[in-house]
Amino acid sequence: MLTKAPRGTKDILPQESYKWHFVENSYRAMCEKYGYKEVRTPVFEHTELFQRGVGDTTDIVEKEMYTFEDHAGRSLTLKPEGTSPAVRAYVEHKQYADPQPVKMYYQTPCFRYEKPQAGRLREFHQFGLEVFGTSSMLADAEVICFAGEFLKSMGIVNTVLEINSVGCPTCREAYRQALREYFKPHYDELCESCRLRYERNPMRLLDCKSEHDKALAEDAPEILDYLCDDCSADFEDLKNCLDALGMEYVINPRIVRGLDYYTKTAFEFVSQGIGAQSTVCGGGRYDNLIEEIGGPSVPGVGFGMGIERLLILMEECGFQIPEPEPVDVFIAFLGEEARMKAVALMKALRENGIKTEMDILERKVKGQFKYAARLNSRFTVMIGEEELEKGVVQLKNMELHDQKETPVDTLVSVITEVVKNQ
Ligand code: ATP
Ligand code: MG
Repeated sequence: MLTKAPRGTKDILPQESYKWHFVENSYRAMCEKYGYKEVRTPVFEHTELFQRGVGDTTDIVEKEMYTFEDHAGRSLTLKPEGTSPAVRAYVEHKQYADPQPVKMYYQTPCFRYEKPQAGRLREFHQFGLEVFGTSSMLADAEVICFAGEFLKSMGIVNTVLEINSVGCPTCREAYRQALREYFKPHYDELCESCRLRYERNPMRLLDCKSEHDKALAEDAPEILDYLCDDCSADFEDLKNCLDALGMEYVINPRIVRGLDYYTKTAFEFVSQGIGAQSTVCGGGRYDNLIEEIGGPSVPGVGFGMGIERLLILMEECGFQIPEPEPVDVFIAFLGEEARMKAVALMKALRENGIKTEMDILERKVKGQFKYAARLNSRFTVMIGEEELEKGVVQLKNMELHDQKETPVDTLVSVITEVVKNQ
């Protein structure tokens, strides 16, 4: 128990964290290019934010949240997603008074009490984007284009972009009614959650993961037939924008998304790769969310992308994440005086930006060299009594197998020269 991480969580070990750094740095660089700035919000929020924001008839709020009381009796929840907190920050800090649109990105851990399996964890990580303050489909097209470009730049070639419009409260009322009528004769066959969904939020019926209900939903009425003129025109505009951007997509009228706040645009990047967990990125427009949580009436659009699923797909597509550079210099020593010299030299080299290591396990010289070989250092520096007396070190270039006696005073500049010019 004590030496096992909680179910559904995963350590990222030192030997694999470079993969995370790679995708994180790439994501940041792309955000920079597209003009998004990072927002960092707390790991926990008031529970009510998610009840209101995500929607209290969603799976997330009904079954998946990590909710606890703090010592003062407040109900807090570890964030299950990134959009509601970003919206809360936008409202709290009156970002709507700034020139619009406000474009933010985030990278955050998320927590959901789910059944752990490949690509489905209880603590996972998301990249996300939000654009606040515009109802233009150019914004929807921009975030979709960003996600597509980012996946492409990570070597992912096996995803399909699926789009839909989930309409607005006006068109949804008629659609809900049509869904209820369709499912009514099958009410008794529905799973327990779906019977609740039938009453409270029939669009959720399309999101059920049970095979029986999924099959039933196949022939259900489609939201696209119920869109009002405004939503319909926007959906057309979105498709035109995506065409102009050269983005391929398929229309999937079954996409309802697991969060209640979506209006109009809903989209997913779906892959056949990750078993049942096929969606790597999902997002859409949320024109009522900001008002819903107590802000002014401001529209928004964004996406969330699962980093664990992203990494699984990258591996499946054979993307080679560049491994970290090995150590530049390893300093070996013999004798106490040389040991002190080695420590000082290591500090000087590191101060000059050179990746330097020495043995800090008090191994004998032979062991030190074995360790150096394991580190795969480009240079080895050896300091013994004789070298100390002469004021030199033995500098060996491990790639060229070439050893030179080098004055100790020039060592830093000699190595800096070679390493920086590589
Ligand atoms: P799913 O239908 O797979 O449960 P979702 O609709 O709940 O996904 P979103 O809330 O849209 O997912 O989250 C955005 C992205 O975050 C997903 O596309 C996925 O890549 C990732 N994600 C969601 N839940 C998990 C999880 N439990 N473990 C790992 N990644 C997740
Ligand atoms: Mg889910």
